[in-house]
Amino acid sequence: MVAPAWRQGQPEPLGLYISVPFCRAKCSFCNFASGVYPRSAMPGYVAGLLRQLRAARAWAEARGLVLPDRVDTVYLGGGTPSLLPPGLLRTLLLAIRGEFTLDSDAEITLEAAPLQLEPATLEAALQAGVNRISFGVQSFVEAEARATARTHSGAEALAEIERVRAAGVAHVSADLIAGLPGQTGASWAASFARLAEAPLDHASIYMFELDDDSRLGAEALRGGARFGAQLLPHDDAVADWYEQACAALGAAGLGQYEISNFARSGGRSRHNERYWLRAPYLGLGVDAHSMLRSVEGRCARFAVGDALGAFLEGASWEEPHRLTAAEELEEAWFLGLRRNAGVSLAALCEEFGPPAIAAYASALEELTGSGLLHSKEPGTVALTARGRLLSNDVFAALLLAPAPPGRPSQFAGSDRGPIVDNGIDGHSY
Ligand code: SF4
Repeated sequence: MVAPAWRQGQPEPLGLYISVPFCRAKCSFCNFASGVYPRSAMPGYVAGLLRQLRAARAWAEARGLVLPDRVDTVYLGGGTPSLLPPGLLRTLLLAIRGEFTLDSDAEITLEAAPLQLEPATLEAALQAGVNRISFGVQSFVEAEARATARTHSGAEALAEIERVRAAGVAHVSADLIAGLPGQTGASWAASFARLAEAPLDHASIYMFELDDDSRLGAEALRGGARFGAQLLPHDDAVADWYEQACAALGAAGLGQYEISNFARSGGRSRHNERYWLRAPYLGLGVDAHSMLRSVEGRCARFAVGDALGAFLEGASWEEPHRLTAAEELEEAWFLGLRRNAGVSLAALCEEFGPPAIAAYASALEELTGSGLLHSKEPGTVALTARGRLLSNDVFAALLLAPAPPGRPSQFAGSDRGPIVDNGIDGHSY
């Protein structure tokens, strides 16, 4: 791994994440800040995004943060940004070009739900430079999709992928969720087989996670039968299904490059890679997360609140949380290890100093002995296949690694703040 551009004194390009929180229906498994809001709110919402675009440079400079002018990835997520009317989509992408210098080969992704991308919106997206569409399919089995508030059949989802390919979209991705209510080994196998055969160059597999932020998750934790929590498959089965899907996608040429992500050659999500590599990105809109570096090169994270009403009334980024060296190192581990390529120990030593990395030696040894980590290439550490399944355990063990001798003041006792949210926005639920 080469040292990041900012350490070599080179300007680093920026990624833009744009949250569009409008959805046609609220999916039962969804824990994002999205909702079924009136279309009449869309113009005001896009006006709020333009306001942030124009204010970003002065806002960052006033806080000693570097906002690169050059942009090489743009990601419209949410929410369902494919629901935006063509005129608003055009306005938004034009405004980005007005405020930043967009690379001629920039990756520009639009998230879409099957059957929720009008032909006129697709045409406007292509004209405005969108070259990647990410479909939140979740299941190619109609009954499973419907149980979560999706309305597509497997054939319809496949037809949507073929339609955007035929229209000239260079890169197409689709997501599936393992562990939906009523899912069985056979239905999951049918879903991932369709994913593997579809004309895609990228795929994501997520395992449904129980938390209070989705209605299905809350029901599973607290009881009830409205969203099918009683039909959730067992965790062990879901873990097996994840492994089966990894193998099937790999055999179909979609190689795994991150815990949840798979791509053909040239199909990796450049935008999502910047999260794992700690490259800068600016998030605009409701609940969007950002990471910029200070003029001294340290990471600062900040976000926009998740209330649509407040955003429409002018709310913007909250004050940044400036990471300590210890927090940055923790992030370097748990974000870097998500990638199959793992992390380079030499690069970590260069960035944080050998004593800071030496403090992890016994934890790394123990995790390697347990079969959760391995050294794929000399001088690197990566998760094994089992480690990817138990990644939270690996990250927890690394967070507990002792402070390095002789460096207690820098690497101990920090006020952690909300850094554990890694800002991974590249989902298309
Ligand atoms: S999963 Fe996607 S489409 Fe469904 S409610 Fe959440 S953001 Fe909207």
